[in-house]
Amino acid sequence: MENKKEMRAWLDDMNLDHPLVVAGPCSAETEEQVLKIAHELKDTDVNYFRAGIWKPRTRPGMFEGVGALGLKWLQKVKKETGMKVCTEVANATHVKLALEHDIDMLWVGARSTVSPFIMQEIADALQGTDKPVLIKNPVNPDLALWLGGIERIYSSGVKNIGAIHRGFSTYEKSKYRNNPEWQLAIEFQNKFPDIPLINDPSHITGKRDMVFDISQAALDLNFDGLMIETHYDPDNAWSDAAQQVTPSSLVQIMRDLKIRKETDAEVEYQNALNNLRAKIDVIDNQIIGLLGNRMVASDGIGALKKKKNVAVLQSKRWNEILGKMVLEGQDHGLSEEFILKMFKAIHQESINHQEKIING
Ligand code: PEP
Ligand code: MN
Repeated sequence: MENKKEMRAWLDDMNLDHPLVVAGPCSAETEEQVLKIAHELKDTDVNYFRAGIWKPRTRPGMFEGVGALGLKWLQKVKKETGMKVCTEVANATHVKLALEHDIDMLWVGARSTVSPFIMQEIADALQGTDKPVLIKNPVNPDLALWLGGIERIYSSGVKNIGAIHRGFSTYEKSKYRNNPEWQLAIEFQNKFPDIPLINDPSHITGKRDMVFDISQAALDLNFDGLMIETHYDPDNAWSDAAQQVTPSSLVQIMRDLKIRKETDAEVEYQNALNNLRAKIDVIDNQIIGLLGNRMVASDGIGALKKKKNVAVLQSKRWNEILGKMVLEGQDHGLSEEFILKMFKAIHQESINHQEKIING
């Protein structure tokens, strides 16, 4: 799949002076709930009203959505508020029904993007539609799988495309419900600068008080929009209660976000600078994470050495590492002086760790 300008025409044609905003409840629960939220969002910056009607839940027996009945409620939202509406589709029947009910935009959920069979089925059912289709990243951090899903949809003739970054599940404990893994989103943007990229801070954080910070981070990385779950009574929502915000909090979030518009040279410079700084912040966090992992491995070696009563400092091995890293550094434009300084510092920290283990 090639990057094509036409992929983002649907968004550019909206001529928005702010990032695209998609908001509404995780799930449509009742007709009253859907309409009440929609009316509260009507005169805000929200561009598309969202509500899930077929809900992929981790375990059976949980609320699995109201089903096709919800399509009628979304039609009512359109009629009463004039807002455009969108919902999640996960198979050919969903697509057929959503298109028949003139739903304005569709998205594919993270649990569907993981399956090429499902993606092909959805792509075939979408053939020829001019509605925008947004593809969420797969549950697992696999950029190729995400791009493959998008390619299937695009190849079936859907030209109005977008991607939603909703974070990735991990086995390790994390403060996020789904780790953002920003480096994957950045790689996505580098490969496909013309596919609109929407951030979903609700599913990344899983907690409403973290939604603002993730939204700001996304805008600093030049994301094209936000999808934020919104409910008038989040605590009593039938799904994803902890992460939904109220309509008034959403308005406050939108007001507080620093949205940088590309209007003049100065602002463009600021945009470019912020974008690069945001990338550096992501990379710095990765460096710290990697160094932490390196120390954990080194602690393991410390424990082994203790068992076998072996000296902490192994000069031969250390000189081998240094030599290899100097060469590796050259390939990446890093000076020998820098590599030596950096690795000496890393090595010293490892020795300190291991000594603590052996003597502790
Ligand atoms: C949702 O948007 O409510 C949803 C189920 O999201 P995801 O596919 O990202 O888990
Ligand atoms: Mn949800």
